[in-house]
Amino acid sequence: QWAYLDGQFQPLLDTKISVLDRGFLFGDGIYEVVPVYNRQLFEWPAHYARLERSLALTQISNPLSQQAWLDLLNELIERHPWPNQFIYLQITRGVQTPRDHLPAAHLTPTLLAYTNPLPAINKTNIGRGIAAITHPDLRWQHCDIKAITLLANVIAKKSAQNAQAQDALLVRQNGLVTEGSASNMFLIKDGTIHTPPLNEFILPGITRQVVEKLGTRHHVGFVERDIQESELATADELWLASSTKEIIPIVTLNHQPVGNGQAGPLWSKMFDLYQDYKREYKQDY
Ligand code: PMP
Repeated sequence: QWAYLDGQFQPLLDTKISVLDRGFLFGDGIYEVVPVYNRQLFEWPAHYARLERSLALTQISNPLSQQAWLDLLNELIERHPWPNQFIYLQITRGVQTPRDHLPAAHLTPTLLAYTNPLPAINKTNIGRGIAAITHPDLRWQHCDIKAITLLANVIAKKSAQNAQAQDALLVRQNGLVTEGSASNMFLIKDGTIHTPPLNEFILPGITRQVVEKLGTRHHVGFVERDIQESELATADELWLASSTKEIIPIVTLNHQPVGNGQAGPLWSKMFDLYQDYKREYKQDY
């Protein structure tokens, strides 16, 4: 398994960064996770747009041109045998000493990329659904940046595990549901998909974007609106969505059944539409 770090491919397990890297010392960096299906990047233009936006909002310079990114990721895919993969890439502001919150001028960003096999998706397994809890959203006010600083997400995930659940729906102090610990959330009521609007409290998920596209294309109602924690208990279905997990049904919330306690019909439909979309997806860049 290979990693790309600062211009070189090297064995992943031997790949090391400096302790002076601002990513290590300050969490001063951003990342992306890009799925690969049938050895082709999936939705790369959308991932790249989000990457550029994260860099712009953090004022970290982009170390590569768009074409150089594409060449790098394609080489990474080619070096591995797996048909389906997920690529992790991370850019930190770079190495600096002495330690100072203020970034030095003209730092060279640290670029890390590596890939992992993506397990095959099985509808029967995913259709068993997951148990989730609600959890306070302890994060900051710029969750739209895909920042490597994920402590609040990790705490939420750990709390879910402590409660014998697999994930957490995050709730802001104002009572609004934002997203999962590493996924966007959807509430289904009377055949319509509801999801919180894009703002600084949620990550603009690429899977969310595809779900919106498929919903619109197939005449399923798709509404972006604030969702109150109190509405969760009366939802017909609840889903989480992310690039690596795709679309998963939540079947119990805080140990109570969601709807009838089984994956719902709209989940089943959207799951199938998503598989078709993946199969037909053609990279044209
Ligand atoms: N929200 C958060 C907090 C996430 O970590 C993720 C996964 N990276 C998502 C949403 C879903 O984003 P995507 O569909 O692009 O994977």
